[in-house]
Amino acid sequence: MIDFISDSVLDSAVASLEKLVAVPSFNTEDSGFSGAPFGAGPRAALDSVLEIAADLGFATFCDPDGYYGYADVGSGDSIFGIVCHVDTVPAGDASAWSFPPFELHRSAGVLYGRGVQDDKGPTVAALFAVKAILDAGFSFDRKIRFIFGTDEEILWRCLAEYNKKEVPIDLGIAPDAEFPLIYAEKGLQQSYLVGEGSSELFVDVVDSFNAVPSAAFYDGPKLAGVKQALKEHDFDFLDDDPGLTVVGRSVHAMNAPFGVNAIDRLAIALADVFPEVSVLQFFKKYGEEAHGFNLLGDVSDEVSGQLTFNISSLQIDPAESKIQIDLRIPVTVDHDELIAKLSRVVAPFNLKYVDFDYLKPLYVKTDSYLVKTLMASYQAVSKDMTSKPQISGGATFARTMPNTVAFGAMLPTTPDHMHQVDERWSLADMKLSMKILAEAVYRLCVK
Ligand SMILES: [Zn+2]
Repeated sequence: MIDFISDSVLDSAVASLEKLVAVPSFNTEDSGFSGAPFGAGPRAALDSVLEIAADLGFATFCDPDGYYGYADVGSGDSIFGIVCHVDTVPAGDASAWSFPPFELHRSAGVLYGRGVQDDKGPTVAALFAVKAILDAGFSFDRKIRFIFGTDEEILWRCLAEYNKKEVPIDLGIAPDAEFPLIYAEKGLQQSYLVGEGSSELFVDVVDSFNAVPSAAFYDGPKLAGVKQALKEHDFDFLDDDPGLTVVGRSVHAMNAPFGVNAIDRLAIALADVFPEVSVLQFFKKYGEEAHGFNLLGDVSDEVSGQLTFNISSLQIDPAESKIQIDLRIPVTVDHDELIAKLSRVVAPFNLKYVDFDYLKPLYVKTDSYLVKTLMASYQAVSKDMTSKPQISGGATFARTMPNTVAFGAMLPTTPDHMHQVDERWSLADMKLSMKILAEAVYRLCVK
């Protein structure tokens, strides 16, 4: 096995990462000029990464509308995609960081800065891993295309544009998760159920789609009766005076069955006190069964397990009632059939199904050429023979491209600091990740 990644290759990658981290690139959507649909930051980061790629000798292209860019190297009949993103989440509380979030800082062998794990670090790591193979004297028999998105953290409109305007890749990786690889990601459906209002009851509790709500406040009519109902169900709540707060336990929506849904519990108690409000009866039917079993029966497959069904809002006013739901759908389940069934099931509660956002599932078979080659590359470099290909309820860009899986760039042993204060990645882990990436590209793309 050739060791492509020397310390000087690592150093060059870090120098480029420094440039990229120095460009704050969280979504602002208000740049006021064309060519920057998600704000000036993501656009500047796109320009910066294209400059880094051009300096490496890759042929770069920037979408005139500013949604995405790409960098090509090598040639051949098929395209191997490396799908990345240069937008990040905001820094959060900048004063809580040990170092300024938009200056790459090196301390005790660890790199700090917003984006070093997600996804600027892996992006630069992959760029320099590919360059190192060229520098070792090899050439590629596929075209390798780095695709740089600018809207991964919000709505993925960048790659929607790519898929509208560009030729598809033939196979690829998205280094935006964990090694060894993720070959199956559930379909992700976010929707509303909308029904009739109530002149009697006003409720307004809203959490984000992808979280099991940990608290639900109520301060409305029949408060004593609602408290009584909560006690009868043995649901925890705080007496707020005025009002009450039902207490749950938040987890990510993809793990909804392991959380405690405060909004669901409030609604179940309210249903006892306000039996005439039809939306509440829906919650009684749903119960506390976050696989959606009471509504839809067993929805599962062998590859990716069971459906998860999270409810994260309840709004009732005189005009209408509204619930937001997040479904993670097993990869082989027919999406349209499932949604048709759900629409039928909610109809007796006078609820109408309204689509918000859908991401189709990712599924590349574990005995495919791509997965087998990536696994072998990972094992050859890391010597980790126990980690298995993963399935996930989460979402990476891999699912937007044909025959593409999430591959790295974090090791299974790398602590996850993505989206957090003091986002950081150790140089040792970065170097090992670059070796794995280089080995995989070498096996897949070198003659
Ligand atoms: Zn990411």
